[in-house]
Amino acid sequence: MTPLQALQKYFGYTQFRHTQQEIIDHVLRKQDVMALMPTGGGKSLCYQLPAVLLNGLTIVISPLIALMKDQVDSLNLNGIPAAYLNSSQSAEEQKDIAIQLQNNRLRLLYIAPERLFAADNRMMAFLKTLNVVQIAIDEAHCISQWGHDFRPEYLMLSGLKQQFPDVPVIALTATADKLTQKDILEKLNLHNPAIFVSSFNRANITYRVTPKKNSFNQLLKFLGQRKDESGIIYCLSRKSTETLAADLKEEGYDAEAYHAGLSNEVKARNQEAFLKDEIKIIVATIAFGMGINKSNVRYVVHIDLPKNIEGYYQETGRAGRDGLASDALLLFSPGDAIKLRGFAQVDDNPGQSAIMLKKLDDMVNYCQLHACRRQYLMHYFNEPFPDHCGSCDFCLSEFTKFDGTLIAQKALSAVARLKENFGGGYIIDFLRGSRSEKIWAEHKALKTYGAGADISKADWQRYLRELTSQGYLQTEDNGFPVLKLTAKSGAVLKGEQKVELISHEAIEEHEHEAPAH
Ligand code: ADP
Ligand code: ZN
Repeated sequence: MTPLQALQKYFGYTQFRHTQQEIIDHVLRKQDVMALMPTGGGKSLCYQLPAVLLNGLTIVISPLIALMKDQVDSLNLNGIPAAYLNSSQSAEEQKDIAIQLQNNRLRLLYIAPERLFAADNRMMAFLKTLNVVQIAIDEAHCISQWGHDFRPEYLMLSGLKQQFPDVPVIALTATADKLTQKDILEKLNLHNPAIFVSSFNRANITYRVTPKKNSFNQLLKFLGQRKDESGIIYCLSRKSTETLAADLKEEGYDAEAYHAGLSNEVKARNQEAFLKDEIKIIVATIAFGMGINKSNVRYVVHIDLPKNIEGYYQETGRAGRDGLASDALLLFSPGDAIKLRGFAQVDDNPGQSAIMLKKLDDMVNYCQLHACRRQYLMHYFNEPFPDHCGSCDFCLSEFTKFDGTLIAQKALSAVARLKENFGGGYIIDFLRGSRSEKIWAEHKALKTYGAGADISKADWQRYLRELTSQGYLQTEDNGFPVLKLTAKSGAVLKGEQKVELISHEAIEEHEHEAPAH
Protein backbone atom coordinates (compact mmCIF):
# COMPACT_ATOMS: atom_id res chain seq x y z
CA MET A 1 0.00 0.00 0.00
CA THR A 2 1.32 3.48 -0.83
CA PRO A 3 0.99 6.32 1.68
CA LEU A 4 -1.69 7.90 -0.49
CA GLN A 5 -3.71 4.69 -0.58
CA ALA A 6 -3.42 4.35 3.18
CA LEU A 7 -4.53 7.96 3.58
CA GLN A 8 -7.68 7.20 1.66
CA LYS A 9 -8.33 3.81 3.17
CA TYR A 10 -7.72 4.53 6.84
CA PHE A 11 -8.31 8.24 7.18
CA GLY A 12 -10.76 8.93 4.39
CA TYR A 13 -8.83 11.92 3.00
CA THR A 14 -8.06 12.40 -0.65
CA GLN A 15 -4.79 14.27 -0.45
CA PHE A 16 -1.94 15.25 1.84
CA ARG A 17 -1.70 18.67 3.29
CA HIS A 18 1.38 20.92 3.33
CA THR A 19 4.44 18.91 4.21
CA GLN A 20 2.68 15.74 5.40
CA GLN A 21 3.77 13.63 2.46
CA GLU A 22 7.44 14.55 2.74
CA ILE A 23 7.46 14.04 6.48
CA ILE A 24 5.90 10.62 6.10
CA ASP A 25 8.38 9.64 3.38
CA HIS A 26 11.26 10.53 5.69
CA VAL A 27 9.88 8.52 8.59
CA LEU A 28 9.32 5.54 6.29
CA ARG A 29 12.99 5.82 5.32
CA LYS A 30 13.85 5.62 9.03
CA GLN A 31 15.10 9.20 9.28
CA ASP A 32 14.59 11.46 12.27
CA VAL A 33 12.27 14.36 11.65
CA MET A 34 11.21 17.53 13.37
CA ALA A 35 7.86 18.75 12.08
CA LEU A 36 6.62 22.26 12.78
CA MET A 37 3.06 22.87 11.82
CA PRO A 38 0.48 25.28 13.11
CA THR A 39 -2.27 24.02 15.38
CA GLY A 40 -4.82 22.25 13.24
CA GLY A 41 -2.23 21.66 10.54
CA GLY A 42 -2.50 17.89 10.69
CA LYS A 43 0.46 16.75 12.76
CA SER A 44 -1.04 13.50 14.07
CA LEU A 45 -1.32 12.04 10.62
CA CYS A 46 2.44 12.40 10.15
CA TYR A 47 3.07 9.53 12.56
CA GLN A 48 -0.28 7.75 12.44
CA LEU A 49 0.04 7.00 8.77
CA PRO A 50 3.56 5.54 8.99
CA ALA A 51 2.29 3.56 11.99
CA VAL A 52 -0.17 1.89 9.69
CA LEU A 53 2.40 1.16 7.00
CA LEU A 54 5.34 0.10 9.14
CA ASN A 55 5.26 -3.41 10.41
CA GLY A 56 5.59 -2.94 14.14
CA LEU A 57 4.80 -0.66 17.05
CA THR A 58 4.77 3.14 17.12
CA ILE A 59 5.21 4.68 20.53
CA VAL A 60 3.55 8.07 20.87
CA ILE A 61 4.72 10.25 23.73
CA SER A 62 2.12 12.75 24.67
CA PRO A 63 1.87 15.09 27.66
CA LEU A 64 -1.82 14.99 28.28
CA ILE A 65 -3.38 11.86 29.62
CA ALA A 66 -6.87 13.25 29.10
CA LEU A 67 -6.35 13.48 25.36
CA MET A 68 -4.91 10.04 24.78
CA LYS A 69 -8.30 8.46 25.01
CA ASP A 70 -9.77 10.65 22.26
CA GLN A 71 -6.89 9.89 19.94
CA VAL A 72 -7.04 6.17 20.60
CA ASP A 73 -10.82 6.04 20.21
CA SER A 74 -10.67 7.75 16.86
CA LEU A 75 -7.86 5.48 15.64
CA ASN A 76 -9.82 2.41 16.67
CA LEU A 77 -12.85 3.78 14.85
CA ASN A 78 -10.69 3.99 11.72
CA GLY A 79 -9.76 0.34 12.18
CA ILE A 80 -6.24 1.01 13.47
CA PRO A 81 -5.41 -1.00 16.60
CA ALA A 82 -4.13 1.45 19.23
CA ALA A 83 -4.08 1.77 22.99
CA TYR A 84 -2.73 3.99 25.73
CA LEU A 85 -1.16 3.29 29.06
CA ASN A 86 -1.76 5.65 31.94
CA SER A 87 -2.54 5.85 35.60
CA SER A 88 -6.28 6.09 35.04
CA GLN A 89 -6.38 2.40 34.12
CA SER A 90 -6.80 -0.58 36.42
CA ALA A 91 -4.00 -3.13 36.79
CA GLU A 92 -6.21 -5.52 34.86
CA GLU A 93 -6.56 -3.18 31.87
CA GLN A 94 -2.84 -2.47 31.84
CA LYS A 95 -2.03 -6.16 31.86
CA ASP A 96 -4.39 -6.72 28.96
CA ILE A 97 -2.62 -4.05 26.93
CA ALA A 98 0.77 -5.55 27.78
CA ILE A 99 -0.41 -8.89 26.39
CA GLN A 100 -1.66 -7.27 23.21
CA LEU A 101 1.72 -5.57 22.86
CA GLN A 102 3.58 -8.84 23.35
CA ASN A 103 1.48 -10.44 20.66
CA ASN A 104 2.24 -7.58 18.23
CA ARG A 105 -1.40 -6.74 18.01
CA LEU A 106 -1.13 -2.97 18.45
CA ARG A 107 0.09 -0.41 15.93
CA LEU A 108 0.23 2.57 18.27
CA LEU A 109 0.82 2.95 21.98
CA TYR A 110 0.26 6.33 23.63
CA ILE A 111 2.16 6.98 26.81
CA ALA A 112 3.20 9.95 28.97
CA PRO A 113 6.95 10.53 29.43
CA GLU A 114 6.93 10.04 33.19
CA ARG A 115 5.38 6.64 32.65
CA LEU A 116 7.93 5.65 30.07
CA PHE A 117 10.79 6.33 32.46
CA ALA A 118 9.08 5.25 35.65
CA ALA A 119 11.56 4.86 38.50
CA ASP A 120 12.53 1.23 38.03
CA ASN A 121 12.73 1.56 34.22
CA ARG A 122 10.63 -1.56 33.84
CA MET A 123 8.43 -0.02 31.21
CA MET A 124 11.45 0.89 29.13
CA ALA A 125 12.89 -2.59 29.49
CA PHE A 126 9.57 -4.07 28.41
CA LEU A 127 9.18 -1.79 25.39
CA LYS A 128 12.70 -2.69 24.26
CA THR A 129 11.61 -6.30 23.90
CA LEU A 130 8.98 -5.22 21.35
CA ASN A 131 9.33 -4.44 17.69
CA VAL A 132 9.34 -0.65 17.96
CA VAL A 133 9.48 0.95 14.51
CA GLN A 134 8.74 4.61 15.20
CA ILE A 135 8.71 6.98 18.15
CA ALA A 136 6.58 10.11 17.93
CA ILE A 137 7.05 12.94 20.41
CA ASP A 138 3.97 15.09 20.39
CA GLU A 139 4.04 18.66 21.73
CA ALA A 140 7.83 18.45 21.61
CA HIS A 141 8.23 22.07 22.76
CA CYS A 142 7.37 20.84 26.27
CA ILE A 143 11.04 19.86 26.51
CA SER A 144 12.21 23.45 26.27
CA GLN A 145 12.35 25.93 29.08
CA TRP A 146 12.14 28.66 26.45
CA GLY A 147 8.84 27.34 25.22
CA HIS A 148 5.57 28.37 26.77
CA ASP A 149 4.66 25.01 28.18
CA PHE A 150 7.75 23.52 29.75
CA ARG A 151 7.22 20.13 31.40
CA PRO A 152 10.22 18.87 33.38
CA GLU A 153 9.30 15.23 32.73
CA TYR A 154 9.95 15.86 29.04
CA LEU A 155 13.63 16.32 29.83
CA MET A 156 13.84 12.58 30.40
CA LEU A 157 13.28 12.11 26.68
CA SER A 158 16.86 13.16 25.98
CA GLY A 159 17.88 9.58 26.76
CA LEU A 160 15.43 8.10 24.31
CA LYS A 161 17.63 8.06 21.24
CA GLN A 162 20.22 6.08 23.18
CA GLN A 163 17.66 3.49 24.22
CA PHE A 164 16.35 3.08 20.67
CA PRO A 165 19.27 4.04 18.42
CA ASP A 166 17.81 2.56 15.25
CA VAL A 167 14.24 3.73 15.60
CA PRO A 168 13.27 6.91 13.75
CA VAL A 169 12.02 9.67 16.04
CA ILE A 170 9.54 12.25 14.85
CA ALA A 171 9.20 15.34 17.03
CA LEU A 172 6.12 17.46 16.45
CA THR A 173 5.17 20.92 17.65
CA ALA A 174 3.20 23.99 16.74
CA THR A 175 5.80 26.23 18.31
CA ALA A 176 7.70 28.11 15.66
CA ASP A 177 9.99 30.14 17.83
CA LYS A 178 13.61 29.65 16.70
CA LEU A 179 15.13 29.43 20.15
CA THR A 180 12.70 26.73 21.20
CA GLN A 181 13.30 24.79 17.99
CA LYS A 182 17.01 24.75 18.54
CA ASP A 183 16.50 23.67 22.10
CA ILE A 184 14.20 20.81 21.07
CA LEU A 185 16.78 19.49 18.62
CA GLU A 186 19.60 19.67 21.13
CA LYS A 187 17.70 18.14 23.99
CA LEU A 188 16.24 15.26 22.01
CA ASN A 189 19.60 14.33 20.47
CA LEU A 190 17.96 13.63 17.15
CA HIS A 191 20.21 12.06 14.56
CA ASN A 192 20.74 14.32 11.57
CA PRO A 193 17.09 15.34 11.57
CA ALA A 194 15.15 16.63 8.59
CA ILE A 195 13.25 19.74 9.63
CA PHE A 196 9.92 20.59 8.07
CA VAL A 197 8.30 23.93 8.58
CA SER A 198 4.85 24.48 7.17
CA SER A 199 3.53 27.94 6.66
CA PHE A 200 2.22 29.18 9.95
CA ASN A 201 -0.21 31.54 8.33
CA ARG A 202 -3.79 30.85 9.26
CA ALA A 203 -5.43 32.73 6.44
CA ASN A 204 -8.98 32.12 7.65
CA ILE A 205 -8.44 33.82 11.00
CA THR A 206 -9.00 37.57 11.26
CA TYR A 207 -6.88 39.19 13.96
CA ARG A 208 -8.16 42.14 15.96
CA VAL A 209 -6.87 44.01 18.96
CA THR A 210 -9.07 46.57 20.71
CA PRO A 211 -8.24 48.74 23.70
CA LYS A 212 -9.79 47.19 26.81
CA LYS A 213 -12.25 49.59 28.37
CA ASN A 214 -15.20 47.77 29.87
CA SER A 215 -14.32 44.25 28.93
CA PHE A 216 -17.65 42.67 29.77
CA ASN A 217 -19.63 45.09 27.64
CA GLN A 218 -17.12 44.77 24.85
CA LEU A 219 -17.45 41.02 25.05
CA LEU A 220 -21.25 41.10 25.02
CA LYS A 221 -21.18 43.24 21.93
CA PHE A 222 -18.83 40.81 20.22
CA LEU A 223 -20.84 37.75 21.26
CA GLY A 224 -24.10 39.40 20.25
CA GLN A 225 -23.06 39.00 16.63
CA ARG A 226 -22.11 35.37 17.18
CA LYS A 227 -24.93 33.93 19.20
CA ASP A 228 -24.99 30.41 17.79
CA GLU A 229 -21.28 30.01 17.33
CA SER A 230 -18.70 28.20 19.42
CA GLY A 231 -15.82 30.05 20.95
CA ILE A 232 -13.09 30.08 23.56
CA ILE A 233 -12.53 33.01 25.89
CA TYR A 234 -9.14 33.10 27.58
CA CYS A 235 -8.60 34.83 30.91
CA LEU A 236 -5.44 35.18 32.95
CA SER A 237 -6.76 33.98 36.31
CA ARG A 238 -8.73 30.94 37.36
CA LYS A 239 -11.09 33.06 39.34
CA SER A 240 -12.00 35.31 36.46
CA THR A 241 -12.86 32.32 34.27
CA GLU A 242 -15.46 31.34 36.85
CA THR A 243 -16.93 34.79 37.37
CA LEU A 244 -17.01 35.49 33.66
CA ALA A 245 -18.68 32.15 32.87
CA ALA A 246 -21.31 32.88 35.54
CA ASP A 247 -21.89 36.41 34.23
CA LEU A 248 -22.29 35.10 30.69
CA LYS A 249 -24.79 32.51 31.88
CA GLU A 250 -26.81 35.32 33.43
CA GLU A 251 -26.88 36.93 30.02
CA GLY A 252 -28.27 33.74 28.54
CA TYR A 253 -25.10 32.23 27.08
CA ASP A 254 -24.19 28.55 27.50
CA ALA A 255 -20.78 29.05 29.02
CA GLU A 256 -18.65 26.96 31.36
CA ALA A 257 -15.31 27.58 32.99
CA TYR A 258 -12.16 25.52 32.59
CA HIS A 259 -8.93 25.81 34.57
CA ALA A 260 -6.36 23.60 36.19
CA GLY A 261 -7.84 24.09 39.66
CA LEU A 262 -11.13 22.36 38.84
CA SER A 263 -11.61 18.70 39.66
CA ASN A 264 -10.81 16.25 36.89
CA GLU A 265 -14.44 15.37 36.74
CA VAL A 266 -15.63 18.93 36.17
CA LYS A 267 -12.87 19.56 33.65
CA ALA A 268 -13.74 16.44 31.70
CA ARG A 269 -17.44 17.29 31.78
CA ASN A 270 -17.00 20.87 30.58
CA GLN A 271 -14.55 19.91 27.90
CA GLU A 272 -16.80 17.13 26.67
CA ALA A 273 -19.85 19.41 26.63
CA PHE A 274 -17.90 21.94 24.57
CA LEU A 275 -16.62 19.33 22.13
CA LYS A 276 -20.12 17.96 21.65
CA ASP A 277 -21.60 21.43 21.12
CA GLU A 278 -23.76 21.10 24.22
CA ILE A 279 -22.29 24.37 25.38
CA LYS A 280 -21.13 27.10 23.04
CA ILE A 281 -18.54 28.90 25.09
CA ILE A 282 -15.67 27.80 27.23
CA VAL A 283 -14.12 30.45 29.48
CA ALA A 284 -10.67 29.19 30.28
CA THR A 285 -7.14 29.78 31.41
CA ILE A 286 -4.40 28.62 29.08
CA ALA A 287 -4.74 25.20 30.72
CA PHE A 288 -7.46 24.60 28.16
CA GLY A 289 -6.86 23.64 24.63
CA MET A 290 -3.69 21.69 24.00
CA GLY A 291 -4.58 18.91 21.62
CA ILE A 292 -8.27 19.76 21.63
CA ASN A 293 -9.57 18.93 18.22
CA LYS A 294 -12.79 20.83 17.71
CA SER A 295 -13.10 21.98 14.17
CA ASN A 296 -15.88 24.57 14.40
CA VAL A 297 -14.49 27.01 16.97
CA ARG A 298 -15.47 30.30 15.33
CA TYR A 299 -13.70 32.71 17.64
CA VAL A 300 -11.07 32.99 20.33
CA VAL A 301 -11.14 36.01 22.63
CA HIS A 302 -8.30 37.06 24.90
CA ILE A 303 -9.78 39.14 27.68
CA ASP A 304 -6.31 39.56 29.19
CA LEU A 305 -2.93 40.01 27.59
CA PRO A 306 -1.16 36.73 26.72
CA LYS A 307 2.41 36.36 28.00
CA ASN A 308 3.99 35.86 24.61
CA ILE A 309 3.27 35.57 20.91
CA GLU A 310 3.80 31.79 20.88
CA GLY A 311 1.01 31.20 23.37
CA TYR A 312 -1.25 33.76 21.73
CA TYR A 313 -0.75 32.26 18.31
CA GLN A 314 -1.37 28.74 19.51
CA GLU A 315 -4.51 29.80 21.37
CA THR A 316 -5.94 31.80 18.48
CA GLY A 317 -5.02 28.86 16.25
CA ARG A 318 -7.73 26.81 17.91
CA ALA A 319 -10.24 28.81 15.92
CA GLY A 320 -11.15 27.76 12.41
CA ARG A 321 -9.58 24.34 12.11
CA ASP A 322 -12.29 23.60 9.56
CA GLY A 323 -10.85 26.32 7.36
CA LEU A 324 -13.91 28.59 7.64
CA ALA A 325 -13.63 32.27 8.51
CA SER A 326 -12.98 32.80 12.20
CA ASP A 327 -12.10 35.63 14.54
CA ALA A 328 -9.39 36.30 17.07
CA LEU A 329 -10.05 39.26 19.34
CA LEU A 330 -7.69 40.56 21.99
CA LEU A 331 -8.64 43.23 24.50
CA PHE A 332 -5.50 45.13 25.35
CA SER A 333 -4.80 47.28 28.34
CA PRO A 334 -1.32 48.57 29.24
CA GLY A 335 -2.11 47.69 32.86
CA ASP A 336 -2.08 44.01 31.93
CA ALA A 337 1.40 44.44 30.52
CA ILE A 338 2.62 45.92 33.80
CA LYS A 339 1.09 43.05 35.74
CA LEU A 340 2.72 40.45 33.50
CA ARG A 341 6.05 42.23 33.73
CA GLY A 342 5.90 41.60 37.45
CA PHE A 343 5.20 37.90 36.93
CA ALA A 344 8.07 37.59 34.47
CA GLN A 345 10.72 38.62 37.01
CA VAL A 346 11.93 35.37 38.48
CA ASP A 347 14.61 36.13 41.01
CA ASP A 348 16.57 32.92 40.88
CA ASN A 349 16.87 32.88 37.10
CA PRO A 350 17.77 36.25 35.54
CA GLY A 351 18.49 34.68 32.14
CA GLN A 352 15.04 33.27 31.94
CA SER A 353 13.47 36.52 33.18
CA ALA A 354 15.19 38.43 30.41
CA ILE A 355 13.82 36.10 27.78
CA MET A 356 10.34 36.22 29.22
CA LEU A 357 10.41 40.02 29.35
CA LYS A 358 11.60 40.23 25.76
CA LYS A 359 8.75 37.95 24.70
CA LEU A 360 6.30 40.07 26.64
CA ASP A 361 7.60 43.20 24.89
CA ASP A 362 7.05 41.53 21.53
CA MET A 363 3.49 40.75 22.61
CA VAL A 364 2.87 44.34 23.69
CA ASN A 365 4.34 45.65 20.45
CA TYR A 366 1.93 43.44 18.57
CA CYS A 367 -0.98 45.00 20.47
CA GLN A 368 0.23 48.53 19.79
CA LEU A 369 1.02 47.89 16.17
CA HIS A 370 -0.17 50.27 13.52
CA ALA A 371 0.54 47.90 10.68
CA CYS A 372 -0.66 44.55 9.40
CA ARG A 373 -0.94 42.18 12.37
CA ARG A 374 -0.52 39.07 10.29
CA GLN A 375 2.68 40.37 8.82
CA TYR A 376 4.01 40.99 12.32
CA LEU A 377 3.06 37.47 13.40
CA MET A 378 4.62 35.88 10.33
CA HIS A 379 7.82 37.87 10.75
CA TYR A 380 7.90 36.83 14.37
CA PHE A 381 7.95 33.25 13.16
CA ASN A 382 10.59 34.11 10.56
CA GLU A 383 8.24 33.70 7.67
CA PRO A 384 8.26 36.32 4.93
CA PHE A 385 4.92 37.97 4.34
CA PRO A 386 3.81 40.93 2.19
CA ASP A 387 2.63 43.99 4.02
CA HIS A 388 -1.13 43.68 3.64
CA CYS A 389 -3.13 40.60 4.50
CA GLY A 390 -6.55 42.13 4.01
CA SER A 391 -7.93 40.32 7.03
CA CYS A 392 -6.67 41.94 10.21
CA ASP A 393 -8.17 45.00 11.87
CA PHE A 394 -5.47 47.19 10.41
CA CYS A 395 -5.88 46.00 6.83
CA LEU A 396 -9.66 46.03 7.09
CA SER A 397 -9.94 49.54 8.41
CA GLU A 398 -9.92 52.51 6.18
CA PHE A 399 -7.07 54.44 7.62
CA THR A 400 -6.15 57.57 5.77
CA LYS A 401 -2.48 57.75 5.17
CA PHE A 402 -0.47 60.87 4.61
CA ASP A 403 3.06 61.71 3.66
CA GLY A 404 4.80 61.56 7.01
CA THR A 405 8.33 61.86 5.67
CA LEU A 406 9.03 65.15 7.45
CA ILE A 407 7.72 63.84 10.75
CA ALA A 408 9.79 60.71 10.34
CA GLN A 409 12.89 62.76 9.56
CA LYS A 410 12.40 64.85 12.70
CA ALA A 411 11.99 61.76 14.84
CA LEU A 412 14.94 59.89 13.36
CA SER A 413 17.13 62.94 13.50
CA ALA A 414 16.25 63.47 17.17
CA VAL A 415 17.19 59.87 17.89
CA ALA A 416 20.49 60.38 16.07
CA ARG A 417 21.33 63.68 17.75
CA LEU A 418 20.61 62.22 21.15
CA LYS A 419 23.13 59.52 20.22
CA GLU A 420 20.63 56.67 20.36
CA ASN A 421 20.80 56.86 24.11
CA PHE A 422 17.24 57.72 25.11
CA GLY A 423 13.79 56.24 25.31
CA GLY A 424 10.66 57.43 23.52
CA GLY A 425 9.48 59.69 26.35
CA TYR A 426 12.66 61.74 26.40
CA ILE A 427 12.82 61.99 22.64
CA ILE A 428 9.27 63.30 22.51
CA ASP A 429 10.01 65.89 25.23
CA PHE A 430 13.07 66.93 23.26
CA LEU A 431 11.13 67.20 20.02
CA ARG A 432 8.42 69.20 21.71
CA GLY A 433 10.94 71.60 23.21
CA SER A 434 10.40 70.70 26.84
CA ARG A 435 12.12 72.91 29.41
CA SER A 436 12.73 70.05 31.78
CA GLU A 437 15.97 70.45 33.67
CA LYS A 438 18.01 67.77 31.92
CA ILE A 439 16.92 68.67 28.43
CA TRP A 440 17.41 72.38 29.04
CA ALA A 441 20.83 71.88 30.53
CA GLU A 442 22.22 69.32 28.13
CA HIS A 443 20.30 69.21 24.89
CA LYS A 444 18.55 72.44 24.09
CA ALA A 445 21.36 73.52 21.79
CA LEU A 446 21.00 70.51 19.54
CA LYS A 447 19.34 70.83 16.17
CA THR A 448 15.74 69.49 16.07
CA TYR A 449 15.22 70.54 19.70
CA GLY A 450 11.63 71.79 19.65
CA ALA A 451 11.19 70.89 15.98
CA GLY A 452 8.06 68.88 16.75
CA ALA A 453 6.31 71.28 19.12
CA ASP A 454 3.24 71.42 16.88
CA ILE A 455 2.49 67.73 17.42
CA SER A 456 0.86 66.46 20.61
CA LYS A 457 2.58 64.02 22.92
CA ALA A 458 0.02 61.30 22.20
CA ASP A 459 0.48 61.72 18.45
CA TRP A 460 4.25 61.54 18.81
CA GLN A 461 3.90 58.34 20.81
CA ARG A 462 1.92 56.80 18.01
CA TYR A 463 4.28 58.05 15.32
CA LEU A 464 7.26 56.56 17.14
CA ARG A 465 5.45 53.24 17.46
CA GLU A 466 4.49 53.34 13.82
CA LEU A 467 8.04 54.12 12.75
CA THR A 468 9.14 51.20 14.89
CA SER A 469 6.64 48.83 13.39
CA GLN A 470 7.63 49.98 9.91
CA GLY A 471 11.24 49.18 10.79
CA TYR A 472 12.67 52.74 10.81
CA LEU A 473 13.35 52.58 14.54
CA GLN A 474 14.03 49.79 16.93
CA THR A 475 13.89 49.39 20.67
CA GLU A 476 16.86 48.06 22.56
CA ASP A 477 16.96 47.16 26.21
CA ASN A 478 19.74 49.06 28.02
CA GLY A 479 18.22 48.39 31.41
CA PHE A 480 15.44 50.64 30.10
CA PRO A 481 14.10 50.75 26.55
CA VAL A 482 16.17 52.90 24.22
CA LEU A 483 15.26 53.90 20.67
CA LYS A 484 17.85 53.21 18.00
CA LEU A 485 18.13 53.77 14.28
CA THR A 486 17.98 50.85 11.90
CA ALA A 487 19.47 49.99 8.53
CA LYS A 488 16.39 51.60 6.98
CA SER A 489 16.74 54.92 8.79
CA GLY A 490 19.52 56.39 6.68
CA ALA A 491 17.53 56.61 3.47
CA VAL A 492 14.77 58.54 5.26
CA LEU A 493 17.21 60.98 6.81
CA LYS A 494 18.82 61.59 3.42
CA GLY A 495 15.44 62.18 1.83
CA GLU A 496 15.71 59.15 -0.42
CA GLN A 497 12.81 57.32 1.14
CA LYS A 498 9.28 58.57 1.67
CA VAL A 499 7.39 57.41 4.76
CA GLU A 500 3.64 57.01 4.98
CA LEU A 501 2.02 57.50 8.33
CA ILE A 502 -1.53 56.99 9.44
CA SER A 503 -3.79 59.90 10.14
CA HIS A 504 -4.58 59.65 13.80
CA GLU A 505 -8.07 61.00 13.50
CA ALA A 506 -8.87 57.74 11.74
CA ILE A 507 -7.40 55.75 14.62
CA GLU A 508 -9.34 57.61 17.29
CA GLU A 509 -12.55 56.71 15.50
CA HIS A 510 -11.50 53.15 15.05
CA GLU A 511 -10.66 52.67 18.70
CA HIS A 512 -14.15 53.62 19.75
CA GLU A 513 -15.80 51.23 17.39
CA ALA A 514 -16.90 47.78 18.38
CA PRO A 515 -14.96 45.14 16.45
CA ALA A 516 -16.79 44.64 13.19
CA HIS A 517 -17.95 41.19 12.28
P1 ADP B 1 -2.64 19.25 14.93
O1 ADP B 1 -1.57 19.64 13.98
O2 ADP B 1 -3.21 20.42 15.66
O3 ADP B 1 -2.27 18.11 15.82
P2 ADP B 1 -4.52 17.39 13.88
O4 ADP B 1 -3.55 16.31 13.64
O5 ADP B 1 -5.43 17.25 15.05
O6 ADP B 1 -3.81 18.78 13.98
O7 ADP B 1 -5.36 17.62 12.56
C1 ADP B 1 -6.31 18.65 12.46
C2 ADP B 1 -7.50 18.21 11.64
O8 ADP B 1 -7.14 18.06 10.27
C3 ADP B 1 -8.02 16.85 12.08
O9 ADP B 1 -9.44 16.90 12.06
C4 ADP B 1 -7.47 15.91 11.03
O10 ADP B 1 -8.25 14.76 10.89
C5 ADP B 1 -7.51 16.78 9.78
N1 ADP B 1 -6.55 16.36 8.73
C6 ADP B 1 -5.26 15.98 8.91
N2 ADP B 1 -4.68 15.69 7.73
C7 ADP B 1 -5.61 15.87 6.77
C8 ADP B 1 -5.62 15.74 5.33
N3 ADP B 1 -4.54 15.35 4.65
N4 ADP B 1 -6.76 16.04 4.70
C9 ADP B 1 -7.85 16.46 5.37
N5 ADP B 1 -7.91 16.60 6.71
C10 ADP B 1 -6.81 16.32 7.41
ZN1 ZN C 1 -3.27 42.60 7.84
